[in-house]
Amino acid sequence: MKKVLLFLLVALLLLAAVLIFRTLSFHSKQIKVEAVQLYKTDDAVIQRLSQAIQFKTVSYQDSGKMDTSAFNGLHRFLQHSFPLIDSLLTLEKINTYSLLYKWRGSNPELKPILLMAHQDVVPVDPLTLPGWEHPPFEGVVKDGFVFGRGALDIKSGITGEMEAVEYLLREGFKPERTVYLAYGHDEEIGGRQGALQIANHLQQQNVELEYVLDEGGSIISGIVPGIEKPVAIIGIAEKGYVSLELSVEEEGGHSSMPPKQSAIGILSAAITKLETHPFPTKMDGPGAVMFDYVGPEMAFGMRLVFANRWLFGPVIESQLDKKNSTRATMHTTTAATIFNSGEKENVLPIKAKAVVNFRIMPGDSVQGVIDYVKRVINDERIKITTTSQDPDEPSGVSDLSSSAFGVIHKTTAEIFPDVLVAPYLVLGATDSKHYKNITKNIFRFEPTRLDDADLKRIHGTDERISIESYKETISFYIQLIKNSNE
Ligand SMILES: [Zn+2]
Repeated sequence: MKKVLLFLLVALLLLAAVLIFRTLSFHSKQIKVEAVQLYKTDDAVIQRLSQAIQFKTVSYQDSGKMDTSAFNGLHRFLQHSFPLIDSLLTLEKINTYSLLYKWRGSNPELKPILLMAHQDVVPVDPLTLPGWEHPPFEGVVKDGFVFGRGALDIKSGITGEMEAVEYLLREGFKPERTVYLAYGHDEEIGGRQGALQIANHLQQQNVELEYVLDEGGSIISGIVPGIEKPVAIIGIAEKGYVSLELSVEEEGGHSSMPPKQSAIGILSAAITKLETHPFPTKMDGPGAVMFDYVGPEMAFGMRLVFANRWLFGPVIESQLDKKNSTRATMHTTTAATIFNSGEKENVLPIKAKAVVNFRIMPGDSVQGVIDYVKRVINDERIKITTTSQDPDEPSGVSDLSSSAFGVIHKTTAEIFPDVLVAPYLVLGATDSKHYKNITKNIFRFEPTRLDDADLKRIHGTDERISIESYKETISFYIQLIKNSNE
């Protein structure tokens, strides 16, 4: 008995030693640099953002509804507002409405960088109009904010990047490394007419990029429990996308003599199976890399937990499982989005049809999802097909040890000295996926400060950007172009 107790005691002490050793060697991954003073910008930058918002460059699901005059208007506006860019950079219009600017560097040996954004915005639901404090397309400047559709997503990206380039041109800066600015016109409906065409165009010229910086993460306060500081989340991967249509055809007939299971019943059972058999979670994927960056910044107790994920993995997982937004970072998600069947109350339907949308974790694949769904449903009566919407494979995972990530991390630390940097997995889809053939380094980060309320305004009501934050955004891009030159 004594021996057993002694053994247990030694085992416990050993375990404690391992846990503590791992905690003490769980070092900060934050780059320590001197803060850089923000570059001076005048209020004209605010006016230009406000004006850019006023062009109703809306993307509709039905691309025939596109208002081409709004896009042409925005093009003319950019041309007049950034005269040095207009005279010193080359502009190519790709597929008529997408913009590709090239600022040629002096050293052709260096791979170019490409900064992205998109011209289009999502429509404003007319039912939400009364809820807008300021009309969505007037670019109202008030109380320290610029209001309007696209303020965050992402006219501020276009004007922010162009302000930075115009500033550097004014200063006489000459890049060694070529800088591209690329603005697609249909990101909100998949980017196949815009960003994809830009990327194809560059690929035809054998361009290989050092890195691409697109939207995705931003600087968010209160996003990580146990971390007081705002966190700059930088997307290193994004999920794939596929929708599957499940359909059943049965005999139909009169509802007074029904079969034991109707078309509706068969299909409902299939959906239930999918919901009760979610895709397995992964605690080692790109969704979890964030812990390596925020973990070391936490108080000792939490640091111990994150430094020892081999032991506390299940505890962390159960915490992440509590919120839809964090659960989605751990696995391929399943969302039944459409369900149609039945016409009349006393007639058995011949057909039932449902659509289930999957967001695919890097490491999984479109085919993997289809196989999994067939296996789980395991019912010959159900036909499973992909919908007309083209599926997207999940992205690769960008390399955190690349100099590209180093430059973005360093620039963030210089311009936002109070902020922590953490890589993360983007749950939605961005235009950056179209660039996968011409660079290994795709990062998704909009250098703008947001809080929880701002997040809801993206694609929502009363979208706005803080003037103070927008000026930091411009400084970030100036500093990023400078740092990328080294
Ligand atoms: Zn966007």
